[in-house]
Amino acid sequence: MSKSHQVVTEIVEQEICCGCGICAGACPFHNLKMAWRDNGDLAPMLVGECSPGCRLCLKVCPFGTQAASEDRLARARFSDSDNCRHDEAVGFYLETFVGYSLSGGHRERGASGGMTTWLVEALLAKGLVDAVVCVGAGKSAERLFEYKIMADVESLRAAAGSRYYPVDMAEAVSLINGENQETRYAVVGLPCALKGLRLAMEAMPRLGRRIVYTLGLTCGHMTNRFYTEYLAGLSGVSPDQLASAQYRLKESTIRANNYKFRAVKKSGCSGAAIPFSKISNIWSDGYFQVNACNYCDDVFAEVADVVFMDAWLPQYSRDPRGHSMIVLRHPALLAIFGEGIRDETCHLESLPISKLVESQWGVIEKKRTLLGARLFAADLKGHHYPQKRFSPDADSYRRHRRKVERPYGIQQASKELWPKFGSRFPLAFRLYLLTLSLPIVLQRMSARALRLLKNPSLLRRYVRGA
Ligand SMILES: Cc1cc2nc3c(=O)[nH]c(=O)nc-3n(C[C@H](O)[C@H](O)[C@H](O)COP(=O)(O)OP(=O)(O)OC[C@H]3O[C@@H](n4cnc5c(N)ncnc54)[C@H](O)[C@@H]3O)c2cc1C
Repeated sequence: MSKSHQVVTEIVEQEICCGCGICAGACPFHNLKMAWRDNGDLAPMLVGECSPGCRLCLKVCPFGTQAASEDRLARARFSDSDNCRHDEAVGFYLETFVGYSLSGGHRERGASGGMTTWLVEALLAKGLVDAVVCVGAGKSAERLFEYKIMADVESLRAAAGSRYYPVDMAEAVSLINGENQETRYAVVGLPCALKGLRLAMEAMPRLGRRIVYTLGLTCGHMTNRFYTEYLAGLSGVSPDQLASAQYRLKESTIRANNYKFRAVKKSGCSGAAIPFSKISNIWSDGYFQVNACNYCDDVFAEVADVVFMDAWLPQYSRDPRGHSMIVLRHPALLAIFGEGIRDETCHLESLPISKLVESQWGVIEKKRTLLGARLFAADLKGHHYPQKRFSPDADSYRRHRRKVERPYGIQQASKELWPKFGSRFPLAFRLYLLTLSLPIVLQRMSARALRLLKNPSLLRRYVRGA
C-alpha cells in the first residue's frame, strides 16, 4: 500500500481524525499506534510498513471518504424491527424515555440520570453480555482516561460519569477480534466511535459477532487533551501535577446543568470545584474542539442500539440529581427497561420525540443546521472533508458566517496557542481568546434578549429563574 492511501495521510494529516482508534485496532499488521499530537489531539501514527492494497484502516474510519453513511448503517440494523419509526434528526427509534436509575448509586455517580450504567449492569446481570467496553481511569498521567474491558459491577460503577477527554478503542478492538473464545460484549461510545465500530463490525465478522450491543452517548462535540489541562489550571492544578479530573460533580443545591469540574492532583488532593456557568463559554465557543467534529452531523449516535443524553428541559434540569433521556432502537432492550420499571430499579416515563428533540435543539442546530455552511467554508479554504449527508450551502454560509467562522477561529487558535504559551500564561491566553469570542458572546446575548422580549411567558420564567 502506498503511503498516500492510509489513515495517517488521508485522515490525520487532513485534520479529520476524531481519534476513535478503530483503525489502529483493526490494522491486521499492528502498524498503527495511538499517540498524542502536538496540537493536543489523539490520533494514529504509522509504526510499520503497510501491506499493498490493504486499506482496512480507511474502510473502518468514520470520517473516511468512502465510509457508508449513518443512514445506510442504521437502516441495515433497525429498519426491519416492528414499530420502528424514523425522525430526520434522531434517526430510527422504537421508544423514547426520560427517567433515572433507582438503584446501585447510578444516579448519584452518573453524568445524567445514571441510566447508561444501569443498563450495562442489567445486561451483565441477565447474562446477555459477558463484558462491557467503557471508559475508566487511565493507567498513567499520560492518559487520564482510557477504554477498558470490564466484567464486574464495581468497575462499571466506578466508570460512571462523562469524560470530556480523548479516549480510543484500539486496544479493545484488537483484543476482541483476536480472542480465541467467543465472548459477547456491549460497548459504550460517542457517535463517531460507534460508527467506526459498526464499519469495523461489517468488515471483520468476528468483531461483528462478538459485539452484541452498542450504547451511544449523544454528543455536541469532543474536546482534546488541552481542554482538561486548561480547566485543571482554573481549578488550581498545573498540567504536570494533574492525575485525574471529575467533569460533572453534582450538588444538591445547584441545577443539574450547572455541574462542577474539579481536577485531582498526583498527591491525591483536589483542586477547587468550578461550576459550569463559569466555564460554559469554553465549551460552547469550541475551545480545544477536535476538528473532525466540524464535519459530524450525527447528534444521536444513529447506529447505536440505544442512546443516552442529558434532559436539558427546565422541568428536568432544575433537579440537581439529573435525568437521562433515552432513544431506544433495539427491541431486545425494550424488555429490559420494562423489567427495570416493574422491579422499580429505574423510573422511566415515555417522552414525545418532539420533547427529546427540543432538549437538544442547540446541538442539532450546531451539528446539522449549520453543517452546510461549514462545508461551504471548508470549500472556500480548500479543506478536505468526508462525504456527508448534507451539501455545502453558500446561502447558509452567507447568513451564518459568524456562527461558523468565529468558533472555527477559536478552535484553531486555542489548540495552537495553548502549548506555546497558554499553559505558562493562562491569563494572557484567556484574554486573547476572549477578544476572539467577544462577537459571539454579544450575538448570543442579543439573540437571547430578543427571544425573551418576543415571548412574555418565557420572560416571566426567566425572571423567576424557573
Ligand atoms: C464528549 C461528550 C459530549 C457529550 N455531549 C452531550 C450533549 O451535547 N448533549 C447531551 O445531552 N449529552 C451529551 N453527552 C452525554 C452525557 O454527558 C452523558 O454521558 C449521558 O447523558 C449519559 O449519562 P448517564 O448518567 O446515563 O451515564 P453514566 O451512568 O454516567 O455512564 C456514562 C458512561 O459513559 C462512558 N463514558 C464517559 N466518557 C466517555 C467518553 N468520552 N467516550 C465514551 N464513553 C464515555 C462511561 O464509561 C460510562 O460507561 C456527552 C458526553 C460526552 C462524553
